[in-house]
Amino acid sequence: MTKYDVIIVGSGIGGLCCGSILSLAGKKVLISEAHTQPGGVAHSFNTRGYKFESGPSLWSGINRWPTTNPLGQILKLLDEKVEIIKYKGWHVSVPEGEFNLEVGQEPFKERINLLRGDKSVEEWNSFMSAIKPLSQIVSEIPLLSSSPETMNFLEIIKLASKFLPNINLLPKLNGGFGDIVDNYLKDPFLRNWVDLLSFLISGMPMHDTNSAAMATLFDEWFEPESYLEYPKGGSESIVKALVNALKKNGGELILSSKVKAINFSKNIASGVTLENGSKFISDFVVMNTDTWTSRKLIPREITKEWNPKAKNIKKCGSFLHIHLGFDASGLQNLPIHSIHVDNWERGITAERNVAVFSIPSVLDKGMAPKGKHVLHGYTPANEPWEIWENLKPNESNYKNLKEERCSIFLKSLRKIIPDIDSRIEIKFLGTPLTHKKFTNTYCGSYGPALSAAEGLFPGCKTPVKNLLTCGASTFPGIGIPAVSASGAYAAEQIIGNKEYKNLLKMIDL
Ligand SMILES: Cc1cc2nc3c(=O)[nH]c(=O)nc-3n(C[C@H](O)[C@H](O)[C@H](O)COP(=O)(O)OP(=O)(O)OC[C@H]3O[C@@H](n4cnc5c(N)ncnc54)[C@H](O)[C@@H]3O)c2cc1C
Repeated sequence: MTKYDVIIVGSGIGGLCCGSILSLAGKKVLISEAHTQPGGVAHSFNTRGYKFESGPSLWSGINRWPTTNPLGQILKLLDEKVEIIKYKGWHVSVPEGEFNLEVGQEPFKERINLLRGDKSVEEWNSFMSAIKPLSQIVSEIPLLSSSPETMNFLEIIKLASKFLPNINLLPKLNGGFGDIVDNYLKDPFLRNWVDLLSFLISGMPMHDTNSAAMATLFDEWFEPESYLEYPKGGSESIVKALVNALKKNGGELILSSKVKAINFSKNIASGVTLENGSKFISDFVVMNTDTWTSRKLIPREITKEWNPKAKNIKKCGSFLHIHLGFDASGLQNLPIHSIHVDNWERGITAERNVAVFSIPSVLDKGMAPKGKHVLHGYTPANEPWEIWENLKPNESNYKNLKEERCSIFLKSLRKIIPDIDSRIEIKFLGTPLTHKKFTNTYCGSYGPALSAAEGLFPGCKTPVKNLLTCGASTFPGIGIPAVSASGAYAAEQIIGNKEYKNLLKMIDL
């Protein structure tokens, strides 16, 4: 039987980053993925010439240098380039009106002025001034070299000395972003807007969203020269680049290979058993699975002392999805992204109150057949699992509920494409059951709802020797930049801090 240095359970972006860094460092790596496609929630699927995305659509900092995005830094380290298409604009549909908005400070200030007047622009200015030093700290401390598990006392002193004038701000970075907002923003639109951005990043409202994550976002999106990046070919191109990096350095990826159990020898992780009965042995196992799925892979006698218990970890909500292929003829100036908020009063976390759409074929013609567009829409992490969990997909009550709850999508879309219904050529609707089925996530959840006000996400070490975690249940948390960093931290634990630092030196971090 082949023995691996490391087996990674799951090929989400976190697992792929971990595996490709380990392969680069000379480790013999196997990634075992349950689905037929790699990429986890960032996988895509092809039907009748359409390339459908299933997850992330907002990318930035993956093809510029320098970048603060850990994924961009890892791609550079791996010597993998992903072609991108730059763009700046979104379409916004909020109770205040419909408008196009560009990233960058000035366009947003102009919009505030139009919607809310001078006073609100001033409020925004003082808020941005308060965030600036936080963004500076975040951009000076590369997340990739800041694993909370390996940062030593000397490094902390070194870092602190860099920021002496702003040293009092360091604790704020780990707190909830809402506290900063409370101090500066009174205007309801501005508060709602920041709440919305926070929710899109973390799946939680601004008071529960980590300030460091938001300071990074503000740094990237509100700089004068800001732009967003769409990877040509969609998220599949990112996944392909990471898989290529894994394989060119000798790593292996097996698909349709669901891990049934993690094996232990004298309480040390020693390999995995797949559902098909195959066994693989290794020195280390890294779980790229969510916290609830991970616990199920480990014998109870090993996890029974672990705290908190899986059942006590709060989860974010799940998703409704719509995938459309539609006739593009005569449609001019369609936005690549649009975001719809029905009613601020209901709150940003309310069910079916927010919908996000992405039409990548607007920028990248290769995503759809000639003369057509491809669209992915979703309600971000606010669909309750509980109303779906006991339904069977082949039963009529499931089908009816799916049509009824997904009607929010076409209702919102008609505002930007009034005759969308008659243009549709392919339509797939997805529920939390669909999301769970294709992403193997517990209850189709976005991830753990761990409030920044209460502390950080757990690090990549587990109570068991040679068993590590990475991905959206691990520090720094949910989202592409965060899971990429967590994959790197798990790799660091395996190759050792010295060798990891040497790797980062190759890209001047
Ligand atoms: C609809 C949607 C939109 C999003 N939009 C954005 C965005 O615009 N920008 C952004 O930064 N982030 C976005 N995110 C969040 C981001 O995509 C995720 O946080 C991130 O991709 C999760 O990566 P992960 O490493 O945790 O792994 P996951 O993607 O959760 O992958 C885990 C993998 O493990 C596999 N697996 C599970 N169990 C087993 C098993 N027993 N054996 C083998 N394999 C197993 C799964 O099949 C899966 O492939 C979005 C997420 C969703 C769902």
